[in-house]
Amino acid sequence: MNDDLTDLYQEVILEHAKSPRNFKVLPDANRVAHGTNPLCGDNYIVYLVMDGDVVRDASFQGSGCAISKASASLLTSTIKGKTRAEVEALFGKVHDMVTTGHADESLGKLAAFAGVHKFPARVKCAILSWHAAKAAVAGDVAPVSTE
Ligand code: ZN
Repeated sequence: MNDDLTDLYQEVILEHAKSPRNFKVLPDANRVAHGTNPLCGDNYIVYLVMDGDVVRDASFQGSGCAISKASASLLTSTIKGKTRAEVEALFGKVHDMVTTGHADESLGKLAAFAGVHKFPARVKCAILSWHAAKAAVAGDVAPVSTE
């Protein structure tokens, strides 16, 4: 692999794509959002258990490329315990990172996706589950598409 591809498929991304966390249906979910990225064929459903304004549990199901799957895995691990406002703020930081390459130090493991900005076609893969999660915490049930 050349340097750029090494950047794109960092170890943390490969590992989460291979063994995604929270990859299941949450039977007691009270927020569900469907996200699709037709360009790549990524197709996911994000499940949340919200208690008032707080995400108590999060999971996802679906299929897609390694980037989108790893992103959904890290997303569902990261947002548990966060408030709607915190999830929305995090969405903004992740969106900035995958479009500019600038990773805020508070992003932790999510910084693995900073290299995606060099591959504009893959930005939608990385941000897809975040769009779905943002819609879910807001209670917006309309399907989310990156198109
Ligand atoms: Zn993809």
